[in-house]
Amino acid sequence: MIVLVTGGSGLVGSAIRELIESNPVEGEKWVFLSSKDANLCNYEETLQLFQKHKPTHVIHLAAMVGGLFQNMSHNLDFFKSNLDMNNNILQASFECKVSKVVSCLSTCVFPDKVTYPITEEMVHLGPPHPSNFGYSYAKRMIDVANRAYHEQHGCQFTAVIPCNIFGPHDNFNPQSSHVIPGLMHRMYNTIQNGGESFTVMGSGKPLRQFIYSKDLARLFVWVLREYQEIDPIILSVDESDEITIKNAAETIASAFGYQGELVFDTSKADGQFKKTASNGKLRKYCPDFKFTPFQQAVKETVDWYKENYHTARN
Ligand code: NAP
Ligand code: GDP
Repeated sequence: MIVLVTGGSGLVGSAIRELIESNPVEGEKWVFLSSKDANLCNYEETLQLFQKHKPTHVIHLAAMVGGLFQNMSHNLDFFKSNLDMNNNILQASFECKVSKVVSCLSTCVFPDKVTYPITEEMVHLGPPHPSNFGYSYAKRMIDVANRAYHEQHGCQFTAVIPCNIFGPHDNFNPQSSHVIPGLMHRMYNTIQNGGESFTVMGSGKPLRQFIYSKDLARLFVWVLREYQEIDPIILSVDESDEITIKNAAETIASAFGYQGELVFDTSKADGQFKKTASNGKLRKYCPDFKFTPFQQAVKETVDWYKENYHTARN
């Protein structure tokens, strides 16, 4: 078994790498790629990489990824680069006879106007939220391609649908990051500068489910080894673990020991109000899976960030 992990240097890829390195399995070779190995938007480079490593399995994580504000200003870039990367990975996997590919969607690609909780079969039931339509439509096409490769060629290509992810090795650059790493970066700087108040973008009222990258890594490896369906599976914490952005900011402040005032800048966008997803399908397969409590995961991430501030993606 030779497992090629695209996007192996990112948030999720690093968590899978650390998990595999601490629990090696005989007979499995894992190769973790970054953009330095190849530009996956280019088919020739992608194919050469597959011919070099000869993978039997692929975890496809590489993507143009960003938070609400980066998506709002770069919908075309998100659409084009993700469509190109996904098409190239699936076609190279087909040409090189890879036996299984697990790609990655996101709960933010579901329709904006939908009934809750969201389930796997709702992916194509209406337009996504306008803030990230480029990313969303590109990601949805993975599901279309997976079905088509299966129907026409019998390929075992599937996808997972995680909720919002955070953890060590995230992108902490506040211009492009998601909410948790963005808040951590800005709060770290506020504390360094002795700031008495801290600004959270938007109203703080939107709801999100957050999964720790280390938990997601365990689930990803389970999907690669055990999950046999072509239909995607939502990898999310429970619906009861959904929290407001305000709660998330308070938890981060508490992990930093920051006691200043939290101020909400309602002139900034809130994005999608909620995207509450059901993990019912996951729970049927893995009823006993234990997620790391949110406060503990945030504390571990803040501690990692403080220790690695100078080398983190800032
Ligand atoms: P990330 O930390 O931003 O990492 C992105 C990875 O993709 C990096 O390894 C990067 O390589 C690689 N990459 C980007 N463009 C590339 C290109 N043109 N050619 C080759 N490699 C390229 O992303 P992540 O948060 O781990 O996301 C992993 C997957 O989860 C993605 O498919 C994303 O859509 C999905 N997802 C993420 C979230 C979230 O909250 N973060 C939520 C749901 C789903 P370099 O390190 O060399 O730049
Ligand atoms: P989303 O879950 O796909 O919408 O993306 P994000 O992870 O970027 O979360 C966006 C939500 O967090 C919105 O409600 C924003 O108003 C709120 N938010 C608050 N502060 C920040 C911040 O510093 N950065 C980001 N990206 N979002 C923030």
